[in-house]
Amino acid sequence: MTDNLQLNAEGKLKHFLTIEGLSKALLTEILDTAESFAGMSEHQVKKVPLLRGKTIVNLFFENSTRTRTTFELAATRLSADVINMNIATSATSKGESLLDTIRNLEAMFVDMFVVRHALSGAAHFIAQQTAPHISVINAGDGQHAHPTQAMLDMFTIRQIKRDFSSLRVAIIGDILHSRVARSEIQALNTLGAAEVRVIAPKTLLPAHVESLGVNVSHNLTEGLKDIDVVMMLRLQKERMSSALLPSESEYFKCFGLTEEKLKIAKPDAIVMHPGPINRGVEIDSKVADGPQSVILKQVSNGIAVRMAVMAMAMQTAPAPGRFSGIHTIPGDRHAGSLPAGGIHTIPGDRHAGSLPANGIHTIPGDKSGVA
Ligand code: ASP
Ligand code: ASP
Repeated sequence: MTDNLQLNAEGKLKHFLTIEGLSKALLTEILDTAESFAGMSEHQVKKVPLLRGKTIVNLFFENSTRTRTTFELAATRLSADVINMNIATSATSKGESLLDTIRNLEAMFVDMFVVRHALSGAAHFIAQQTAPHISVINAGDGQHAHPTQAMLDMFTIRQIKRDFSSLRVAIIGDILHSRVARSEIQALNTLGAAEVRVIAPKTLLPAHVESLGVNVSHNLTEGLKDIDVVMMLRLQKERMSSALLPSESEYFKCFGLTEEKLKIAKPDAIVMHPGPINRGVEIDSKVADGPQSVILKQVSNGIAVRMAVMAMAMQTAPAPGRFSGIHTIPGDRHAGSLPAGGIHTIPGDRHAGSLPANGIHTIPGDKSGVA
């Protein structure tokens, strides 16, 4: 199914709601754009002015730490103004209050909503209802999709393994309740992975899971054979309405990833987890903290990937490969005025009046602006 809602008339990304319906070319563009941003975090000055003057609202109806924080950092590094809203809602009043919230924020001249919601379809709903100039990024909706998580995982895999076409990827655990699993499966298949294998007890798999384009195993020891990428999922206890499992310790015995079981996968296999991890439930600490784990790399990569998606949705992303870090931004009209140290003055900036003669740009409260 093509989700045209996500693309503008030129076929460019407008909203980022789901991986479903997006082309391999577009997913690759996200990865290439993220690569341009990836080195930036190591610079002393971590900002580019691509979203300067834009207002982004992080609209979180469900808890999050790392997703919200990395979205916030990404927006800040693009020089956007960011407002964080954590809104606890009751399930019954969501439809109406959601629309009300949106209308009120629109009235404050917002340019982008980053939305997390416990209901599947919430981000689509907002994208359909909101003013045409606003972009919506899905930061996780119910059990449906978590597209930026999938893309930061694709980025991490590509960074280490280079090419998808020879890769066998296993996704292990609570597939049934996982928005991450759905988005990962779609992304891996679109990017041409050799195999996507899901490994889980029958009770934690959706009906007709094969129709998503995966092979199925119910046995971790057998399922890990020949695997290049091991993706663990958290047991989503908050989404389990009935007892789907005998006990956590029983689950760990059968589906928990230990050092010994990891040896069944390829020797250079990497271990991933979207977080938060339940140590001793789906993954042993020795594996989570071990040499094959890339779990913290995933978190770091979340910033660059979220920067890419936000800049692309606002049509301000630099062409992939033409951006070599903070000092030169092709197409940026301010680029010519960047001094060698990368400290920049932005004409028309409201702080400009306070700039000292040497052009050092200090934004009150901004710790990264001063070299
Ligand atoms: N809710 C989890 C966290 O905040 C994962 C996520 O944000 O996606 O860490
Ligand atoms: N952080 C991911 C999510 O928000 C995975 C998880 O919470 O288990 O979906």
